Amino acid sequence: MLYAPDYYPHFQCIAADCRHSCCVGWEIDIDADTRAAYADVPGEFGQRLADSIIDDADGAHFRLTPDERCPLLREDGLCRLILHLGEDALCQICADHPRFRNFFSGRTELGLGLCCEAAGKLILSAPAPMQLIAIADDGDCDPLTEDERELLALRARALICAGNPTLPIAARMAEVLDCCGAVLPDSLLAWRPIYAACNRLDPLWDAELDALDELPIPPGWDEPFSRLLGYFLYRHLPDALTDGRTAERTAFAVLSTRIVGARFAAGEQNLARLIELARLYSSEIEYDTDNVDALLDAIAAVQTQSEPCERKTLC
Ligand code: SF4
Repeated sequence: MLYAPDYYPHFQCIAADCRHSCCVGWEIDIDADTRAAYADVPGEFGQRLADSIIDDADGAHFRLTPDERCPLLREDGLCRLILHLGEDALCQICADHPRFRNFFSGRTELGLGLCCEAAGKLILSAPAPMQLIAIADDGDCDPLTEDERELLALRARALICAGNPTLPIAARMAEVLDCCGAVLPDSLLAWRPIYAACNRLDPLWDAELDALDELPIPPGWDEPFSRLLGYFLYRHLPDALTDGRTAERTAFAVLSTRIVGARFAAGEQNLARLIELARLYSSEIEYDTDNVDALLDAIAAVQTQSEPCERKTLC
């Protein structure tokens, strides 16, 4: 069965209106089936397509321009490939982005990544906490393993804590940490050198990090930040099935929410800025597995692990 957040079916790429296109600044790999299909495209466009692709030991990928644009991206933001061959001709990465998947036995969860501003708008402006919905039956009905059941139950409790409308966001974050046996020091400034040592993409992020302060999430913004927290929990906790880092991943979700919140509190407070800060954080940090791993390692160093809390009634 395929599950997704309730906002997922409403996603639409804004293409030419996108200010931070995923067709700029990222290496775009081409899967083998699509590469083979591209080799059969005839005529002038087929030649242009062939000239746009590099085949090397890592596989096929698009030859980015000196300013790191996909060579098939037009100046007006439209994709020549779609215009000539239709959306079905996109390679897997282009067709998928900004979607992600987490796999369980008999269950696949889909989501939208915050590095896309159109996805960010959907995620952060949703009218209520995220609900998971079944979107398709793929015929896979294997039962969940015990570990998967426990992890999903823990995440469900954490998501309830994150979406609790009776508490301010700071208290919700404390409950989420408590619920998952995670610990996070109060000071945000101690994290600045750790973030500063991460891989970087955009100088805008350097400026945000340099200006990082201890500011709390401003009053009146509890719900958008609870959705941000819910997004990080939904996306990153399932990977604990592979690496066992449930507490660290929970703390990463809370830390990420607090970092975005601190920068948000320091400037103009409107939804557009929150979407932009979340986009920047997502593309700099959560889309770079080395960066996520470095943060999980740093979080592990400050964790005092405790058992998930059936003992706590708040979660
Ligand atoms: S980042 Fe999102 S909105 Fe922008 S071009 Fe990519 S998929 Fe479309």
